[in-house]
Amino acid sequence: MSFTLAIVGRPNVGKSTLFNRLVGRRLALVDDQPGVTRDLREGEARLGGLHFTVIDTAGLEEATDESLQGRMRKLTERAVEMADACLFMIDARAGVLPTDEVFADILRRKNAHVILAANKAEGRAGESGLLEAYSLGLGEPIQLSAEHGEGMAELAAALEPIAEEMAERTARIEAEAPETDVAVSDDDADDDAPRKPTRARPLQVAVVGRPNAGKSTLINALIGEERLLTGPEAGITRDAISLSFDWAGTPTRIFDTAGMRKRAKVQEKLEKLSVADGLRAVKFAEVVVVLLDAAIPFESQDLRIADLAEREGRAVVVAVNKWDAEPEKNAKLAELREAFERLLPQLRGAPLVTVSAKTGKGLDRLHTAVLRAHEKWNIRVSTARLNRWLEGMLAAHPPPAPGGRRIRLRYMTQVKSRPPGFVVMCSHPEKLPESYSRYLINGLRDDFDMPGTPIRLYMRSQA
Ligand code: GDP
Ligand code: GDP
Repeated sequence: MSFTLAIVGRPNVGKSTLFNRLVGRRLALVDDQPGVTRDLREGEARLGGLHFTVIDTAGLEEATDESLQGRMRKLTERAVEMADACLFMIDARAGVLPTDEVFADILRRKNAHVILAANKAEGRAGESGLLEAYSLGLGEPIQLSAEHGEGMAELAAALEPIAEEMAERTARIEAEAPETDVAVSDDDADDDAPRKPTRARPLQVAVVGRPNAGKSTLINALIGEERLLTGPEAGITRDAISLSFDWAGTPTRIFDTAGMRKRAKVQEKLEKLSVADGLRAVKFAEVVVVLLDAAIPFESQDLRIADLAEREGRAVVVAVNKWDAEPEKNAKLAELREAFERLLPQLRGAPLVTVSAKTGKGLDRLHTAVLRAHEKWNIRVSTARLNRWLEGMLAAHPPPAPGGRRIRLRYMTQVKSRPPGFVVMCSHPEKLPESYSRYLINGLRDDFDMPGTPIRLYMRSQA
């Protein structure tokens, strides 16, 4: 299934170089001299099994005057409108320039589906620019070297959900309106179309867990119908099944992997598949519900998926299912909490909710926990507040002084959310022990009340 990707960004960041690499033919001109006039170019791209149309917006000189700014804007806006997703490219070596911000604004305003890429990231020269890229608030940048072909697997991984979403959307439109021209109904019929998602999109939740944990039962209970998840529906994506519904007033899109399970024939093969499949669902999601079976909690598969969700930077809620069948609830709960802390220390503070998918008990608490985790995942803390907080943390427990010279942490700011990421300016980041970073992360979690969201902390050296 195909989709259209526009490569956007200011001149000279390497858009044409990437275009050429993806298309494999030298269709677009590459030139060192800004000033070669080009227009939108389209080509058929192949990358790691994906086929898609790529639009190159290269072709504008450095926008120094009003009319050029305007043209640059128009060209980009046109490309955004034509495309299902945009690859927004910055130059990791140059860092984030004011012109980059202009593009970021266009993409935000158009509510485009954006993949952020920091190009020219080969070697070490791109490191600081990469960090700055977070400040654009467009998520985690992919490190690319269009010239050297680095980061292509990461790019493919970032595009995969879009490919699947498009396939699914097309299948749904075809299923719902077989008589209608797809191209006509395409644009306005669908609120969560990939071209206007980030904010217009419903809350994206994935339910993951080992086979038989009760994922299908839970989703059926939430949706309140039995119509789904009895097997893969024709035309729906390969593995994950997604459903949109209203969850107690919250527009929600849920990803489930039951279709895969039901199709798998061999038990052993199934175990492997469900992890890979869980991974895919995790990539789609904002909040991941790790569903455990109370009778066999924290199985190795559960742990792997929970860890993966944390590493992917998703908000995590742990739900313990089949609580109705649990005879010793209090003792069991204490045991579960202990096991949780011991086995998943990286998820410290994540909510643990007991539910019964079968009776529906606890599902309201699950709803609250998911909303709260999502909210914290999006949190923004002001720089002033952070620095007041940092002062207190430093006073309470000063950083070490290797060789008699105290490591100084001078300043702190939040550079991203979803999940929250913070940069601390530090005199010798390489000497700061891991335990001190953990102290700060745990402090952030407690003091700013961020249970269940991964927190990223970057130490950056200050010359
Ligand atoms: P566009 O204006 O954004 O389309 O940029 P081009 O693709 O024309 O590239 C501008 C310049 O950056 C050219 O000299 C490219 O060779 C160079 N360039 C592109 N990608 C990379 C990369 O990954 N690393 C480095 N070091 N240079 C690159
Ligand atoms: P999945 O493989 O994770 O999708 O699990 P299913 O939803 O197919 O459920 C597996 C089995 O657990 C089925 O027999 C369900 O009836 C049962 N089950 C699911 N939720 C509950 C629950 O809350 N309580 C009890 N007692 N059984 C449940």
